[in-house]
Amino acid sequence: MSTIVHKKIPTYYNFAGGEWTEATSKELIESFNPATGELVSYSQKSNIQDVSQIIESVQHSFLTSDWSMNPKRRYEALHSLAEKMTEKLEHLALILTMDQGKTIRESRIELSGCIDTLKYFAGAARSVFGRSMQLEPDNFGVVVKEPVGVVGIISPWNWPALLMIRELAPALAAGNGVLVKPASLTPSISVEIFKLIAEIPHFPKGIVSIVTGPGKSIGAAMAASDKIDMISFTGDTSTGKSIIEMGAGNVKKVALELGGKSPNVVFEDANLDKAVPVIGRSIFISAGQICMAGSRVVIHESIKDEVVKRLKEYAEQLRVENGLLETADMGPLVSQSQLDLVEEYCEIGRKEGRIITGGYRMAGETYDQGFYFAPTIIDGLMAGSRVVKEEIFGPVLAVQTFSTEKEALHIANDSDFGLSAGVWTSDLNRAVRMSKGIKAGTVWINTYNKNFPETEFGGYKQSGLGRTRGVDGLMEYCETKHVHIEIDPREGAPL
Ligand code: NAD
Repeated sequence: MSTIVHKKIPTYYNFAGGEWTEATSKELIESFNPATGELVSYSQKSNIQDVSQIIESVQHSFLTSDWSMNPKRRYEALHSLAEKMTEKLEHLALILTMDQGKTIRESRIELSGCIDTLKYFAGAARSVFGRSMQLEPDNFGVVVKEPVGVVGIISPWNWPALLMIRELAPALAAGNGVLVKPASLTPSISVEIFKLIAEIPHFPKGIVSIVTGPGKSIGAAMAASDKIDMISFTGDTSTGKSIIEMGAGNVKKVALELGGKSPNVVFEDANLDKAVPVIGRSIFISAGQICMAGSRVVIHESIKDEVVKRLKEYAEQLRVENGLLETADMGPLVSQSQLDLVEEYCEIGRKEGRIITGGYRMAGETYDQGFYFAPTIIDGLMAGSRVVKEEIFGPVLAVQTFSTEKEALHIANDSDFGLSAGVWTSDLNRAVRMSKGIKAGTVWINTYNKNFPETEFGGYKQSGLGRTRGVDGLMEYCETKHVHIEIDPREGAPL
């Protein structure tokens, strides 16, 4: 067992103007390990005044440094951060697991994803291409991509390192100044990464800052600030809607990565030996606290009993325990309120359907101090049940059944969300038809949850606005400017 004992609880500060700073209130936020209830860190409880000062310092750095015009500098900065994170990976993984509760193996995967993303966007910083075209004999159009300006990044607690870096890397690669606000439940890992940023001289002082504090006050202040040109928000759909409203004051650019209720559609010719563990993992990874969780499995009626039996076996062999243990397959939920919410949905599932496995808070010596919930599968629910419709953000899988391809497509799309989907079949024609018909930003065929910095990710419908990752993800952080050049014709030259 790998354990870590903190002799002293660390206190994290804001990082602004290239300095570590305290919140003016001197108040602190306590963070607890969801596996044990132990206090793991203090961070600054910043207020609106702190935020507006920090926004000004980012803006000042953006306007006065060469950052926006120096792609090589941006490449060096992002590449150095990738190297520093690689050196510190084990240390960061421990912090992440204690902050969030996820397994140490998952923390390593999350941090490796950060490093890969940083390397990809370090290179991309030197490839922010525009285009030029001849329009008429004496007219040229030059289209250039420029940074938007000051970007506010507001991130959630479920994948706190990667979801911050996934936005921070392209925003910085494009030449913006950035202020990050991490979720109040998981500030430690974000500020730990900023400690590495603070050591990198390629970042101009103040160009990248972090402020901790309550979303409802300081997150909202960022969304409303007319000194912030763009907000990149990852979180709950209802919060995302309010971000759009708050950003209307200065018509700021908004990119939203929101919730999901994603289906895995399993046809009768699917390779179940491959499908079942991947589908199981798609919902039980991060204890179901992941936006792209495969929280619905939509199964052809002829194989339904077999698939449900195998998924039950998969769920019941998972080792649910403190994420610091190398053997852990699933850790606790992030907080008491998340646990209460998941219990509430399971009560609805119990009344309206049939619990196949799980459906309870785990009890006993190993579990009592943490927020552990058993991997759960619920069958027999009506299409309109809240358990089928709403994002639970917990380890709860809803089973649905179909008889025809048309019905499978209807069920897959019968959701306010459209983040991702899986299709399991050995019929290529059907796979392509389904991928075209499904209204989601990502469709995986015979796999799930494969993510790369090169490929775009984002939501249809209420799952988001804009795209993250890939070329589109970089362009999200750019403005487009058309520079038009008209030349005086040479005397006697043919026109
Ligand atoms: P949340 O909306 O409660 O919080 C997200 C962030 O917004 C936090 O930093 C929070 O402090 C801040 N915030 C809260 N209220 C705010 C307000 N009024 N104004 C401005 N900021 C505010 O979401 P969460 O509970 O942290 O995260 C879970 C949600 O995130 C789920 O719905 C999940 O699906 C979604 N998510 C989406 C993606 C994606 O890529 N699409 C990825 C991960 C999580």
